[in-house]
Amino acid sequence: MANQYEIAVIGGGPAGCMAAIRSARGNKDVALIERNPSLGRKLLLTGNGRCNLTNSSPMDVFMKNFGSSGNFLRSAFHVFSNESLMHFFASCGLKLKTESHDRVFPVTDKSSSVLAILEKCLRENNVNIIYNTRIIDIKKKEGVFSLAAQNGISIKAKKIIIATGGASYKKTGSTGDGFLIAHSLGHAIISLVPALVSLKAKESWIGDLQGVSLDNIRIIFYRNNKKFVSDNGEIIFTHFGISGPLVLDMSSCIISALGMHKDIEIVIDLSPGLNKEDLNKYMIDKITTAGSVHIKNIIQDMLPKRMTEVFLSLLKISPKKCANQISKKERVSIIDMLKAFPLTVTGSLPIDEAMATEGGISRKEINPRTMESRLIPGLYFAGEAIEGRGTSGGYNLQQAFSTGYLAGECAGQKAT
Ligand SMILES: Cc1cc2nc3c(=O)[nH]c(=O)nc-3n(C[C@H](O)[C@H](O)[C@H](O)COP(=O)(O)OP(=O)(O)OC[C@H]3O[C@@H](n4cnc5c(N)ncnc54)[C@H](O)[C@@H]3O)c2cc1C
Repeated sequence: MANQYEIAVIGGGPAGCMAAIRSARGNKDVALIERNPSLGRKLLLTGNGRCNLTNSSPMDVFMKNFGSSGNFLRSAFHVFSNESLMHFFASCGLKLKTESHDRVFPVTDKSSSVLAILEKCLRENNVNIIYNTRIIDIKKKEGVFSLAAQNGISIKAKKIIIATGGASYKKTGSTGDGFLIAHSLGHAIISLVPALVSLKAKESWIGDLQGVSLDNIRIIFYRNNKKFVSDNGEIIFTHFGISGPLVLDMSSCIISALGMHKDIEIVIDLSPGLNKEDLNKYMIDKITTAGSVHIKNIIQDMLPKRMTEVFLSLLKISPKKCANQISKKERVSIIDMLKAFPLTVTGSLPIDEAMATEGGISRKEINPRTMESRLIPGLYFAGEAIEGRGTSGGYNLQQAFSTGYLAGECAGQKAT
């Protein structure tokens, strides 16, 4: 005989946990179905294991950081904002702290403390958690949803909330099942591409810079010799290319441009606060006073040590050349390179290594005030399964919690 519930939530990530907690509210018959033997596997990886669970910036900043999906999320953020989320965790006994760029973390620096609170709330609200159960098919007949699982279990529910996540880091359980299920129910799926992902570079010397990080730099991307996107922030060189918050946030835009162009030329302004004239004055002053000091020592005042070597070798200037032997031509080439350090981006890491999935279940077919399907009454969506992505900085987990809360709230209200 099939297990019967008022509401079945599919996926035990942050969105599904919050949806189940909110829809149950202590007295509804709610099932949370998770394919893994435990909840929140991806949540545990977030923020390098520290979980950047939200961002304390004002709502207008939130909207901007979600680009075209900002408007769709307005109601969800209004009903359950970053303030509400912080209050939720604080009132459950989890102390939070705010770090640079308004990023919010648990004081414990452990994502497991965030998961522990969700698990406690699930227990307190009498949610039935069904582990090791991968839902593979859903049908609706006579007002009731029938869920078929890979292990043969069959579950019936009056309402369902799909919170199966995206299609990245598949080992966590987020393999994109929700997209197939939603598609089979008639929903359009916007093509899945990696988002918040590191970029690969062509240059053979890139590996020499692995681990070097640069803060307060400007990165400018060119297409057909024309600047098409630029921003300031922090990057990290990897053995294959570039990563870091600035690169991750710009990656979706670069990937879509790469679809039309084989390579994308980029330049890094290593000194965005100074123009070429200022830098020239600075260099003349340094070179004049430094005398026989090696040029590498002067450049090291401006760049990380390991980058200095690559920088000078690209300019074919010996690092041991004395400052007072640097010609005007060499000085100008140093300044040009400080303002435009070149790289060629050839692609990104695959979707499985992306922090998020761009695309997903089309927003157009979801009511933003309830998260209910516009096609099938009683079917709700939450979290990363929904089309659109925020930048890094805690925005995506807030999206998962806010949409989960709204879907749970509305499914719970309508449940009989
Ligand atoms: C390495 C990494 C670091 C990140 N760091 C941050 C960060 O610090 N801050 C931030 O805001 N965001 C971060 N993110 C993004 C964040 O993890 C996601 O936005 C968030 O987890 C989405 O939540 P979700 O509940 O929608 O989906 P998920 O967390 O992916 O959860 C989906 C759940 O559904 C289950 N499931 C899937 N299919 C089925 C099925 N057929 N049947 C039953 N269960 C199923 C999965 O096993 C999984 O448990 C990071 C992502 C990665 C990969």
